[in-house]
Amino acid sequence: MASVVLKGVTKVYQGGVVAVKDFNLDIADREFIVLVGPSGCGKSTTLRMVAGLEEITEGELYIGDRLVNDVPPKDRDIAMVFQNYALYPHMTVYDNMAFGLKLRKMPRAEIDKRVKEAARILDIEHLLDRKPKALSGGQRQRVALGRAIVREPKVFLMDEPLSNLDAKLRVQMRTELSKLHERLQTTFIYVTHDQTEAMTMGDRIVVMKDGVIQQVAGPQELYDYP
Ligand code: ADP
Ligand code: ADP
Repeated sequence: MASVVLKGVTKVYQGGVVAVKDFNLDIADREFIVLVGPSGCGKSTTLRMVAGLEEITEGELYIGDRLVNDVPPKDRDIAMVFQNYALYPHMTVYDNMAFGLKLRKMPRAEIDKRVKEAARILDIEHLLDRKPKALSGGQRQRVALGRAIVREPKVFLMDEPLSNLDAKLRVQMRTELSKLHERLQTTFIYVTHDQTEAMTMGDRIVVMKDGVIQQVAGPQELYDYP
């Protein structure tokens, strides 16, 4: 549980592309924020800067009260879920979820407790022995979420996590993610290019264009946007 504050955050890639320009946003503790906008508007870059996967060219980024500009990803209390899931194909669901914690040398019993609790929340307890290839797209997505949940991060970062699912499942997972947010009581930052998705999720929506914030609004206010 933590707030995320971006102050005048700018990203200039090598070669001079200004991907994000003077981005200012106060994300409250436990808020569900959605970043939306067309491809190339700077959503992923913003998220990756929060994750620590991309250096900030200018500005300040706080997670909680801590300035994290120079803090490596593993020390930021964040977990990120990608659209391609990136599951390890040779590992079972259980081991996929446990792997990150094993690397951190967490005691076995604690790992086991967290994996089983996450599996229960996501309703994948019956899939723990399977390999990813024996799962459906929606199940794989849940495992990817599970891998993030077990780390008990203060901030969840999601980059188009539903874009590889079919339309029906996408709608279902939107509802599930909203429920998950309620349940975990953590801060969510969610990136999508899908307007409808943005308007059906999240406490506030940040509309980006050409690396700049165009509008920050609640879902209802956004409906009124011309
Ligand atoms: P979005 O997530 O909204 O599609 P991105 O953050 O991926 O947008 O990209 C924003 C801009 O930065 C685009 O112009 C893109 O081409 C550029 N960009 C993204 N990654 C890199 C990179 N590694 N090197 C140079 N330019 C990049
Ligand atoms: P290792 O890292 O030595 O291969 P495992 O990850 O296979 O060890 O198992 C470690 C512990 O994790 C086991 O004692 C067991 O409690 C738990 N575990 C592993 N796989 C499963 C599973 N599919 N379902 C429930 N618990 C499991």
